[in-house]
Amino acid sequence: MTALLGSCLCGGVRFEVTEPFVTVSQCHCEFCKRISGGYGTVSGRVQTDAIRILQGQELLRSYTPEGGSAKTFCSTCGSNLFGGGWPDSEMAPVRLSAFGLEYDRKPEAHTFVRSVAAWEILPEDGLPRYEIRAT
Ligand SMILES: [Zn+2]
Ligand SMILES: [Zn+2]
Repeated sequence: MTALLGSCLCGGVRFEVTEPFVTVSQCHCEFCKRISGGYGTVSGRVQTDAIRILQGQELLRSYTPEGGSAKTFCSTCGSNLFGGGWPDSEMAPVRLSAFGLEYDRKPEAHTFVRSVAAWEILPEDGLPRYEIRAT
C-alpha cells in the first residue's frame, strides 16, 4: 500500500503509516474525552514499527495518565497523535484526525462505552459496543 501521511494541526509533526490498520475504533474513555475535547478519539491500530516520524520528533511529548497508557501530542499545537503507550508498545493507536478529510476508513466499534458522559450522544450506527476493549 502507499504510506498514509499524517500530521498535527500546526504541521510541525509529520509521520507516515506503512501498514493498513488492523482495526479502527472510537474510544469513549474519560482520558480520550479529556485529550480530544469531545466524544473521544477515533484511532487505527497498527504495529508500532509501521509508524515512522518524518518530521518534528523533537515536538512530540507524551503524558501517561494514572491507570492509563501514554498519549502523545504535538507540544506546539496540542494535537493528539498516538496513544496506547507509543512508541514503547507493540501496537499503537493512531488518531484518524491526523489524516486529511478525504481519508475514508470508518470506525468499526465503540470501546469503553462504560465511560460515556452524561452530555455525550452515542450514535445509533449499528456498530458493536464494548464496555471496555474490543474482544
Ligand atoms: Zn503541531
Ligand atoms: Zn480512550
